[in-house]
Amino acid sequence: MHELSVTQNVLNVVLEHAQRAGARRIIAIHLVIGELTGFVDDSIQFYFDMLSPDTIAAGAKLAIRRIPARLRCRACGEEFTLKDSNWLCPKCSAVGGDILQGREFLIESIEIE
Ligand SMILES: [Zn+2]
Repeated sequence: MHELSVTQNVLNVVLEHAQRAGARRIIAIHLVIGELTGFVDDSIQFYFDMLSPDTIAAGAKLAIRRIPARLRCRACGEEFTLKDSNWLCPKCSAVGGDILQGREFLIESIEIE
């Protein structure tokens, strides 16, 4: 399970930042996750709830923004959004392409008090 280690990483990073900022509590964590990472929101929430209780991030809200996968066709240059894992170019039906976005995984911001 991928999500356990990434969630542990997120928690480490936000705790470090919050402590440096002198926070008493972390209220919310905003994450940006690309569709191609394969990460499932519910799994991240699950691991977060498991890992965070003894920290100042306990009870923090995870706000996850998904980034759709976008590809550029290598044959015709058409840019398209991946839907239902269909990697065919809508214009020329070539398979696959260069990934423009969708592999993101980052902490956008945190809310503390
Ligand atoms: Zn094409």
